[in-house]
Amino acid sequence: MIDNPENLLNTELMTDTVALIGIPFDEYSSFLRGPAKAPSVIRQTLHNGASNLFAENGVNLETHPKFRDLGDLRLPGGEDAIAAIKSAIGRLTAQKARILVLGGDHAISYPVVHALTDTYDDLTLLHLDAHPDIYDSYNGSRFSHACPFARIMETGRVKRLVQVGVRGMNDEQRRQVNRFGVTCIEMKDYRSKNPIALEGPLYLSLDMDVLDPAYAPGVSHHEPGGMSTRKVLRLIQSIQCPIVGADIVEVNPDRDVNGMTAAVAAKFLKEIAGMMLKQG
Ligand code: MN
Ligand code: MN
Repeated sequence: MIDNPENLLNTELMTDTVALIGIPFDEYSSFLRGPAKAPSVIRQTLHNGASNLFAENGVNLETHPKFRDLGDLRLPGGEDAIAAIKSAIGRLTAQKARILVLGGDHAISYPVVHALTDTYDDLTLLHLDAHPDIYDSYNGSRFSHACPFARIMETGRVKRLVQVGVRGMNDEQRRQVNRFGVTCIEMKDYRSKNPIALEGPLYLSLDMDVLDPAYAPGVSHHEPGGMSTRKVLRLIQSIQCPIVGADIVEVNPDRDVNGMTAAVAAKFLKEIAGMMLKQG
């Protein structure tokens, strides 16, 4: 099921293939390393036999002809990795594949989204996270996992950024949110019964710390007061517009308890892929 990574970028894909791709990269984590281990742990969990590969909408990832697991990217270090990620994702989207990325820390979302804006000039981002990740720079780094949404918005190539679940807001990031015209729905104001109006094409960026640590202890930054697993699932399942790309980031297997967080990430993988595949 997983191709040889050496062949990954030369693989011919059917149009609208949902390509699963791991980006094992955590060099720009500010607090703890660990998320580079997540793609293999999430895949093991997906295939460990504890659950089937059906999404709740009836799509079966095991047999669907347009679901492909391309394995993990092999990356150089530092800023070269950022360029390599953009180039690899760009080659997949140029083939009209839709991509589902397993991070890695949140720093990977900048080059991934940047690559997508070469294909889509009216992209909307739905960003689920405890943190806005929009610092201009953090601990001296502009590629920190605390900065990707500043880098993305600076490109001027994204139509709209909608953040949901934030509870780590501060003055500096609020200035950035205002500067870039971001719609930021903080967790304290979020009501799941009020649907969020979104227009496609959509990129979904899912930081696992949007969940309450009770549901997902295996993340680097515990921010209490977050969403339940079911609340995130309802949000994913309520998306009406075409999803052209998504990432699931910030699982830190070193912090996990009994593989709980990896299991939730595998569940989100199934549901996001299921939504994308149902859209055809
Ligand atoms: Mn994040
Ligand atoms: Mn976060």
